[in-house]
Amino acid sequence: MKAVFLDRDGVVVADGNYQFKTSDMKILDGVPQAIIRLNQAGYLVIIVSNQSGVARGYFTEADVVSFNTYLVVELKKAGAKIDAAYYCPHHATEAKVKKYLLDCDCRKPKPGMLIRAAKEHGISLSESWMIGDKISDVKAGKSAGCRTVYIGKEKNSGADATVAAISNAVEFILSKG
Ligand SMILES: [Mg+2]
Repeated sequence: MKAVFLDRDGVVVADGNYQFKTSDMKILDGVPQAIIRLNQAGYLVIIVSNQSGVARGYFTEADVVSFNTYLVVELKKAGAKIDAAYYCPHHATEAKVKKYLLDCDCRKPKPGMLIRAAKEHGISLSESWMIGDKISDVKAGKSAGCRTVYIGKEKNSGADATVAAISNAVEFILSKG
């Protein structure tokens, strides 16, 4: 299988500051349509998200799971399928909740979530892509052996493409195969 990994905050939903309430969720323009195109092209679509708000004590893992579940359901109503959602609750230095104080291998820019997803879903990482709005997303994708698309204004993102919106990212990916 090939996959497109999506960062969550700033790519799929508007980037609230450590948001966890479903009432605050705003799915960004063009996202359902972009995901539908990836679904139709045979890509698994998988969310990979750093959620250090768990480590910082702002919200719990259960909050992250309910936010993600709600997001998946809302997208499904629009016809867009998310195949899985992974998150990293850790932080190596700023955790207030002791059990999440960990120099883990899953917090982006590390590639742990992508590698785990690849194992669990039989994904070929070299045929897969990471779309993100931070350089840490690009780094995680590259470390996992994926190609990458960066959404944003940073000049030297290191990604295969730098674009303004998710629709452009999907356009680029589908043009490369
Ligand atoms: Mg982001």
